[in-house]
Amino acid sequence: MKGCISSENSPFSFSAHFGMSYAFPDFLCTFYDLRFMELFSIEYIKRMIGKSLMGECMKKELLQEISWVDAKEYFSKNDIAILPVGSTEQHGPHNPLGTDHLIAKALAEEVAKRTGVLCLPVIPFGVSSHHRQFWGTIFIQPKVFREYVKDVCLSLKYYGVKKIVIVNGHGGNTSSLLDVARELRKQGVLVSVFQWWNATGELLPKIFGSDERGHAGSEETSLNLFLYPELVKMDRALNEKPRDLIPKVGGVVGWGADTIDYTNSGVFGDATAASVEKGKKAYEVAVSELTRYVEAIKGLKAENLLSKPPV
Ligand SMILES: [Zn+2]
Repeated sequence: MKGCISSENSPFSFSAHFGMSYAFPDFLCTFYDLRFMELFSIEYIKRMIGKSLMGECMKKELLQEISWVDAKEYFSKNDIAILPVGSTEQHGPHNPLGTDHLIAKALAEEVAKRTGVLCLPVIPFGVSSHHRQFWGTIFIQPKVFREYVKDVCLSLKYYGVKKIVIVNGHGGNTSSLLDVARELRKQGVLVSVFQWWNATGELLPKIFGSDERGHAGSEETSLNLFLYPELVKMDRALNEKPRDLIPKVGGVVGWGADTIDYTNSGVFGDATAASVEKGKKAYEVAVSELTRYVEAIKGLKAENLLSKPPV
Protein backbone atom coordinates (compact mmCIF):
# COMPACT_ATOMS: atom_id res chain seq x y z
CA MET A 1 0.00 0.00 0.00
CA LYS A 2 3.09 2.21 0.23
CA GLY A 3 1.55 4.27 3.02
CA CYS A 4 -1.19 5.62 0.80
CA ILE A 5 -4.01 4.66 3.12
CA SER A 6 -4.16 8.15 4.52
CA SER A 7 -6.38 10.29 2.31
CA GLU A 8 -4.09 13.27 3.00
CA ASN A 9 -1.18 11.46 1.38
CA SER A 10 -3.11 9.52 -1.17
CA PRO A 11 -2.25 10.29 -4.81
CA PHE A 12 -5.96 9.84 -5.45
CA SER A 13 -7.20 12.38 -3.00
CA PHE A 14 -6.68 15.30 -5.41
CA SER A 15 -8.67 13.60 -8.13
CA ALA A 16 -11.30 12.41 -5.70
CA HIS A 17 -11.63 15.93 -4.38
CA PHE A 18 -12.34 17.24 -7.86
CA GLY A 19 -14.57 14.32 -8.79
CA MET A 20 -12.05 13.15 -11.39
CA SER A 21 -11.55 9.57 -10.36
CA TYR A 22 -13.30 8.43 -13.53
CA ALA A 23 -10.40 9.94 -15.46
CA PHE A 24 -8.12 7.14 -14.28
CA PRO A 25 -9.77 3.92 -15.43
CA ASP A 26 -6.54 1.93 -15.04
CA PHE A 27 -6.37 2.90 -11.42
CA LEU A 28 -10.06 2.71 -10.72
CA CYS A 29 -9.94 -0.71 -9.18
CA THR A 30 -6.97 0.14 -6.96
CA PHE A 31 -8.61 3.42 -6.09
CA TYR A 32 -11.76 1.76 -4.85
CA ASP A 33 -9.72 -0.88 -3.04
CA LEU A 34 -7.89 1.87 -1.23
CA ARG A 35 -11.05 3.82 -0.45
CA PHE A 36 -12.71 0.65 0.80
CA MET A 37 -9.72 -0.25 2.94
CA GLU A 38 -9.53 3.26 4.27
CA LEU A 39 -13.22 3.31 5.13
CA PHE A 40 -12.96 0.17 7.15
CA SER A 41 -9.39 0.27 8.39
CA ILE A 42 -8.70 0.56 12.09
CA GLU A 43 -6.66 3.68 11.42
CA TYR A 44 -9.59 5.34 9.70
CA ILE A 45 -11.96 4.46 12.53
CA LYS A 46 -9.43 5.69 15.09
CA ARG A 47 -9.10 8.96 13.17
CA MET A 48 -12.84 9.46 13.07
CA ILE A 49 -13.19 8.66 16.78
CA GLY A 50 -10.22 10.94 17.50
CA LYS A 51 -11.88 13.76 15.60
CA SER A 52 -15.13 13.39 17.46
CA LEU A 53 -13.31 13.17 20.80
CA MET A 54 -11.33 16.26 19.88
CA GLY A 55 -14.61 17.96 19.08
CA GLU A 56 -15.69 17.08 22.62
CA CYS A 57 -12.49 18.49 24.16
CA MET A 58 -12.64 21.64 22.11
CA LYS A 59 -15.69 22.91 23.86
CA LYS A 60 -13.60 25.99 24.66
CA GLU A 61 -12.15 24.77 27.94
CA LEU A 62 -8.54 24.45 26.82
CA LEU A 63 -6.75 27.73 26.22
CA GLN A 64 -4.28 26.19 23.79
CA GLU A 65 -7.11 24.98 21.55
CA ILE A 66 -9.10 28.18 21.16
CA SER A 67 -8.41 31.40 19.27
CA TRP A 68 -8.00 34.86 20.77
CA VAL A 69 -11.52 35.65 19.63
CA ASP A 70 -12.89 32.76 21.70
CA ALA A 71 -10.60 33.73 24.58
CA LYS A 72 -11.99 37.26 24.48
CA GLU A 73 -15.49 35.88 24.68
CA TYR A 74 -14.59 33.64 27.64
CA PHE A 75 -12.74 36.32 29.60
CA SER A 76 -15.47 38.89 29.02
CA LYS A 77 -17.92 36.59 30.82
CA ASN A 78 -15.74 34.73 33.33
CA ASP A 79 -13.18 35.73 35.98
CA ILE A 80 -11.84 32.27 36.81
CA ALA A 81 -9.28 29.89 35.28
CA ILE A 82 -7.53 26.62 36.11
CA LEU A 83 -3.75 26.25 35.89
CA PRO A 84 -2.23 22.75 36.13
CA VAL A 85 1.37 22.63 37.37
CA GLY A 86 3.70 19.70 37.89
CA SER A 87 7.25 18.56 37.34
CA THR A 88 9.39 16.44 35.09
CA GLU A 89 11.35 14.28 37.51
CA GLN A 90 12.19 10.71 38.30
CA HIS A 91 9.37 8.52 39.55
CA GLY A 92 11.23 5.26 39.91
CA PRO A 93 12.36 2.95 37.11
CA HIS A 94 8.78 2.10 36.13
CA ASN A 95 6.90 5.45 35.93
CA PRO A 96 7.33 8.20 33.30
CA LEU A 97 9.31 11.30 34.25
CA GLY A 98 6.20 13.34 33.48
CA THR A 99 4.11 11.64 36.20
CA ASP A 100 3.44 14.77 38.26
CA HIS A 101 2.48 17.04 35.40
CA LEU A 102 0.58 14.35 33.49
CA ILE A 103 -1.63 13.60 36.51
CA ALA A 104 -2.21 17.32 37.20
CA LYS A 105 -3.11 17.87 33.54
CA ALA A 106 -5.58 14.98 33.47
CA LEU A 107 -7.37 16.13 36.63
CA ALA A 108 -7.45 19.80 35.60
CA GLU A 109 -8.74 19.11 32.08
CA GLU A 110 -11.45 16.75 33.29
CA VAL A 111 -12.67 19.31 35.82
CA ALA A 112 -12.53 22.06 33.19
CA LYS A 113 -14.79 19.91 31.03
CA ARG A 114 -17.22 19.34 33.90
CA THR A 115 -17.35 22.97 35.07
CA GLY A 116 -16.85 24.94 31.85
CA VAL A 117 -13.92 26.80 33.44
CA LEU A 118 -11.01 27.55 31.11
CA CYS A 119 -7.89 25.42 31.67
CA LEU A 120 -4.37 26.50 30.72
CA PRO A 121 -1.66 24.23 29.32
CA VAL A 122 0.16 22.43 32.11
CA ILE A 123 3.45 23.88 33.38
CA PRO A 124 5.62 20.76 33.10
CA PHE A 125 8.69 21.79 35.12
CA GLY A 126 8.96 22.44 38.84
CA VAL A 127 11.16 22.58 41.91
CA SER A 128 12.85 19.19 41.68
CA SER A 129 16.56 19.55 42.41
CA HIS A 130 16.29 16.95 45.19
CA HIS A 131 15.67 14.34 42.46
CA ARG A 132 18.47 15.52 40.15
CA GLN A 133 20.77 12.52 40.66
CA PHE A 134 18.22 10.47 38.72
CA TRP A 135 18.61 10.99 34.98
CA GLY A 136 16.18 13.17 33.06
CA THR A 137 14.97 15.20 36.02
CA ILE A 138 14.53 18.88 35.13
CA PHE A 139 15.04 21.22 38.07
CA ILE A 140 14.01 24.87 38.19
CA GLN A 141 15.24 27.24 40.89
CA PRO A 142 12.38 28.14 43.25
CA LYS A 143 12.76 31.86 42.56
CA VAL A 144 12.57 31.31 38.78
CA PHE A 145 9.61 28.97 39.18
CA ARG A 146 7.77 31.49 41.35
CA GLU A 147 8.35 34.31 38.88
CA TYR A 148 7.27 32.16 35.95
CA VAL A 149 4.04 31.04 37.61
CA LYS A 150 3.42 34.61 38.74
CA ASP A 151 3.75 35.93 35.18
CA VAL A 152 1.30 33.30 33.92
CA CYS A 153 -1.19 34.41 36.58
CA LEU A 154 -0.60 38.11 35.87
CA SER A 155 -1.26 37.49 32.17
CA LEU A 156 -4.65 36.12 33.18
CA LYS A 157 -5.21 39.11 35.44
CA TYR A 158 -4.61 41.38 32.44
CA TYR A 159 -7.69 39.80 30.84
CA GLY A 160 -9.82 40.22 33.92
CA VAL A 161 -9.26 36.92 35.74
CA LYS A 162 -9.51 37.34 39.50
CA LYS A 163 -9.62 33.72 40.63
CA ILE A 164 -7.08 31.08 39.66
CA VAL A 165 -7.19 27.48 40.83
CA ILE A 166 -3.75 25.90 40.57
CA VAL A 167 -3.87 22.12 40.30
CA ASN A 168 -0.48 21.05 41.59
CA GLY A 169 0.90 17.58 40.96
CA HIS A 170 4.25 17.92 42.75
CA GLY A 171 4.86 18.35 46.47
CA GLY A 172 8.18 20.14 45.86
CA ASN A 173 6.25 23.04 44.27
CA THR A 174 3.90 23.61 47.19
CA SER A 175 5.77 26.20 49.21
CA SER A 176 6.65 28.22 46.09
CA LEU A 177 3.03 28.16 44.90
CA LEU A 178 1.80 29.32 48.30
CA ASP A 179 4.30 32.19 48.12
CA VAL A 180 2.84 33.12 44.72
CA ALA A 181 -0.69 32.93 46.14
CA ARG A 182 0.23 35.24 49.02
CA GLU A 183 1.95 37.71 46.68
CA LEU A 184 -0.86 37.81 44.12
CA ARG A 185 -3.58 38.15 46.72
CA LYS A 186 -2.02 41.53 47.46
CA GLN A 187 -2.21 42.32 43.74
CA GLY A 188 -5.91 41.56 43.35
CA VAL A 189 -5.87 37.91 42.29
CA LEU A 190 -7.12 35.06 44.44
CA VAL A 191 -4.84 32.09 43.77
CA SER A 192 -5.54 28.83 45.55
CA VAL A 193 -3.64 25.56 45.33
CA PHE A 194 -5.31 22.15 45.01
CA GLN A 195 -3.37 18.89 45.49
CA TRP A 196 -4.97 15.52 44.81
CA TRP A 197 -3.19 13.72 47.61
CA ASN A 198 -4.60 16.21 50.10
CA ALA A 199 -8.06 16.22 48.52
CA THR A 200 -8.41 12.53 49.05
CA GLY A 201 -6.96 12.59 52.55
CA GLU A 202 -9.68 10.47 54.14
CA LEU A 203 -10.07 8.05 51.31
CA LEU A 204 -6.49 7.35 50.26
CA PRO A 205 -5.52 5.54 53.46
CA LYS A 206 -8.47 3.22 52.85
CA ILE A 207 -7.23 2.37 49.35
CA PHE A 208 -3.49 2.35 49.93
CA GLY A 209 -1.46 0.92 52.82
CA SER A 210 0.84 3.37 54.61
CA ASP A 211 3.91 1.85 52.92
CA GLU A 212 2.32 2.34 49.46
CA ARG A 213 1.87 6.08 49.66
CA GLY A 214 5.39 7.47 49.17
CA HIS A 215 6.88 9.18 46.13
CA ALA A 216 6.56 6.94 43.03
CA GLY A 217 4.84 4.32 45.20
CA SER A 218 1.50 2.67 44.69
CA GLU A 219 -0.57 5.88 44.73
CA GLU A 220 1.12 7.61 41.82
CA THR A 221 1.74 4.34 39.98
CA SER A 222 -1.96 3.43 40.27
CA LEU A 223 -3.03 6.81 38.91
CA ASN A 224 -0.62 6.34 36.01
CA LEU A 225 -1.95 2.82 35.40
CA PHE A 226 -5.46 4.24 35.18
CA LEU A 227 -4.64 7.35 33.14
CA TYR A 228 -1.59 6.39 31.07
CA PRO A 229 -1.21 2.57 31.17
CA GLU A 230 1.02 2.55 28.12
CA LEU A 231 3.64 4.62 29.98
CA VAL A 232 4.06 2.34 33.03
CA LYS A 233 6.50 -0.59 33.08
CA MET A 234 5.12 -2.67 35.93
CA ASP A 235 7.76 -5.36 35.45
CA ARG A 236 10.25 -2.80 36.81
CA ALA A 237 8.12 -1.72 39.79
CA LEU A 238 9.63 -2.47 43.17
CA ASN A 239 9.21 -2.09 46.90
CA GLU A 240 11.97 -0.01 48.49
CA LYS A 241 11.90 1.00 52.12
CA PRO A 242 13.61 4.39 52.54
CA ARG A 243 16.77 4.41 54.69
CA ASP A 244 16.75 5.95 58.16
CA LEU A 245 19.64 8.40 58.07
CA ILE A 246 19.17 10.81 60.94
CA PRO A 247 17.61 10.09 64.32
CA LYS A 248 13.82 10.28 64.32
CA VAL A 249 13.17 13.04 66.82
CA GLY A 250 9.97 15.03 67.01
CA GLY A 251 10.45 18.61 65.79
CA VAL A 252 13.07 17.99 63.11
CA VAL A 253 11.43 18.90 59.79
CA GLY A 254 14.31 18.45 57.36
CA TRP A 255 18.04 18.63 56.65
CA GLY A 256 18.27 19.34 52.92
CA ALA A 257 18.55 15.71 51.88
CA ASP A 258 18.11 14.49 48.32
CA THR A 259 16.06 11.48 47.24
CA ILE A 260 19.23 9.51 46.46
CA ASP A 261 20.15 9.70 50.16
CA TYR A 262 17.06 7.66 51.00
CA THR A 263 16.49 5.28 48.10
CA ASN A 264 18.53 3.68 45.31
CA SER A 265 15.61 3.41 42.89
CA GLY A 266 13.83 6.71 43.55
CA VAL A 267 10.81 4.84 44.94
CA PHE A 268 9.61 5.40 48.49
CA GLY A 269 7.60 2.37 49.55
CA ASP A 270 5.74 -0.32 47.68
CA ALA A 271 5.00 0.40 44.03
CA THR A 272 4.22 -3.25 43.26
CA ALA A 273 0.83 -2.97 45.00
CA ALA A 274 -0.43 -0.52 42.36
CA SER A 275 -3.49 -1.34 40.27
CA VAL A 276 -5.81 0.25 37.73
CA GLU A 277 -8.74 -0.12 40.15
CA LYS A 278 -6.95 1.77 42.92
CA GLY A 279 -5.97 4.48 40.44
CA LYS A 280 -9.55 4.81 39.22
CA LYS A 281 -10.84 5.25 42.77
CA ALA A 282 -8.23 7.88 43.63
CA TYR A 283 -8.87 9.70 40.34
CA GLU A 284 -12.63 9.80 40.83
CA VAL A 285 -12.39 11.18 44.34
CA ALA A 286 -9.84 13.80 43.29
CA VAL A 287 -11.94 14.88 40.31
CA SER A 288 -15.13 15.15 42.34
CA GLU A 289 -13.43 17.14 45.11
CA LEU A 290 -11.82 19.50 42.62
CA THR A 291 -15.10 19.90 40.72
CA ARG A 292 -16.88 20.75 43.98
CA TYR A 293 -14.20 23.30 44.80
CA VAL A 294 -14.17 24.97 41.37
CA GLU A 295 -17.97 25.21 41.32
CA ALA A 296 -17.90 26.85 44.74
CA ILE A 297 -15.14 29.29 43.84
CA LYS A 298 -16.97 30.26 40.65
CA GLY A 299 -19.75 31.75 42.72
CA LEU A 300 -17.50 33.70 45.11
CA LYS A 301 -16.58 37.34 44.72
CA ALA A 302 -12.78 37.63 44.66
CA GLU A 303 -13.01 41.15 46.11
CA ASN A 304 -14.22 39.70 49.38
CA LEU A 305 -11.22 37.40 49.66
CA LEU A 306 -8.30 39.70 48.82
CA SER A 307 -5.74 41.24 51.21
CA LYS A 308 -7.22 43.62 53.75
CA PRO A 309 -5.92 47.18 54.33
CA PRO A 310 -4.55 48.15 57.77
CA VAL A 311 -7.16 48.19 60.51
ZN1 LIG B 1 5.17 12.68 42.00
